[in-house]
Amino acid sequence: MSIHEECGVFGVFSPEPADAAGIVYCGLFALQHRGQESCGIVAADDGVFSSHKDLGLVGEVFTPETLSKLPRGNMAVGHVRYATTGGGNNRANCQPIEVNHVKGHMALAHNGNLANAAELRGELELSGAIFHTTSDTETIAYLVTRERVRTSSIEDALSAAMPRFDGAYSLVLMSPQKLLCARDPYGFRPLCYGRREDGIWVVASESCALKAVGAAFIRDVEPGEILVFTRDGVISRREHCGEKPRRFCAFEYIYFARPDSVLDGVSVHRARREAGRILARECPAEAELVIGVPDSGIDAALGYAEVSGIPYGIGLIRNKYVGRTFIAPEESGRHDQVKIKLAAVEEAVRGRRIVLIDDSIVRGTTSGRIVGLLREAGAREIHMRISSPPFVSPCYYGTDIDSKEHLIAVKHTTEEISHIIGADSLGYLPIEGLREMTGRDDLCTACFDGSYPTAIPADTRKDRFEARLNRRKTI
Ligand code: SF4
Repeated sequence: MSIHEECGVFGVFSPEPADAAGIVYCGLFALQHRGQESCGIVAADDGVFSSHKDLGLVGEVFTPETLSKLPRGNMAVGHVRYATTGGGNNRANCQPIEVNHVKGHMALAHNGNLANAAELRGELELSGAIFHTTSDTETIAYLVTRERVRTSSIEDALSAAMPRFDGAYSLVLMSPQKLLCARDPYGFRPLCYGRREDGIWVVASESCALKAVGAAFIRDVEPGEILVFTRDGVISRREHCGEKPRRFCAFEYIYFARPDSVLDGVSVHRARREAGRILARECPAEAELVIGVPDSGIDAALGYAEVSGIPYGIGLIRNKYVGRTFIAPEESGRHDQVKIKLAAVEEAVRGRRIVLIDDSIVRGTTSGRIVGLLREAGAREIHMRISSPPFVSPCYYGTDIDSKEHLIAVKHTTEEISHIIGADSLGYLPIEGLREMTGRDDLCTACFDGSYPTAIPADTRKDRFEARLNRRKTI
């Protein structure tokens, strides 16, 4: 099983002295669903950076003691991480990263992966660069730093470096005086900003995190746009806007984002509910109860129930005190992990025909175990419905949708998969449903149809890319 969340970024700029680090801390809690392996904050006080980052959840890494060591300054950036490249349990890969360069210093946190990361990194290494981490973020930092030598401002340096990056990045960057944020020209990953009543600017991966710190949503950062926050206000740099076709990650709506977020003007909850409605029309089932796999299957289950007329109910409970299923690092022991994380409500499912809604099937292992839980609880029939199309290709843009050999839908028909996972029937969202559920025709759907928005040069194909990173890890 290999879908992992990606990362979340958060940034704060206050024109007046403030507790920027404290605001970032609160914001990171609201982005915790995007990454649970590590987190960090870099705070600026009069241009001097202090940081704390470590492996663990926000509530574990930031205690009253560690928080109190961060200054009450006017700027801070933060990050929650799930490793999609590089070692997951590796402290060196915690973000934000800090870089000293000839004209000062900067802190950088990013969400997404570059399709040409291995190429860029190889080129930098050949020119003498020494890397301390295995993440793309350091590659981005290197290239921005190199441009900084030749340019008169950090925003010019970032703008000059951006054409080198091919792939997904939503980033926050802090110099001693400025907060910057930028989104790649395809706009793969979300990024938005807002402002609090006290005048503090806030940048976040998702709108739910703006709300959490009392900031009113202003707008999404445009694909290719750089925003520069200073004491004089906010400046928008748009020289890279429109360079590429928009390609927002469809899977953000299906799984990654929080349902109360609005991404590029589309409510995640509404999109998921719509996916359920489409599923009910396209893949009807004779049943007495619709249930969703918590959390991301719930909204689609509500939509399915609405259209099918079959009552919605709670058939599975997620243990809130254990991380999401996807973050389990080892394949071994997965059976126990699913049982620890999910439990069937016997009272609700015993003797009944169930429509079970989940967001995706990767290898089929977890789906099989969830079906098993419901069977053990006495469900009479289980009709599984998936609120995304089948995965047929890997993702290069910041998620761990696996290499083809591990994707069950590459080797098996829907009927075969239904049999393998032990369901009575199986149905997927048709690929056209992605457009219908979001109202968008500018989505990346590469993992569902193999049509990649970026070039995937031969030597950055996923297998070689990963082999190279793994080699690096063992040196
Ligand atoms: S390949 Fe799939 S998961 Fe990756 S960015 Fe595109 S839609 Fe999202």
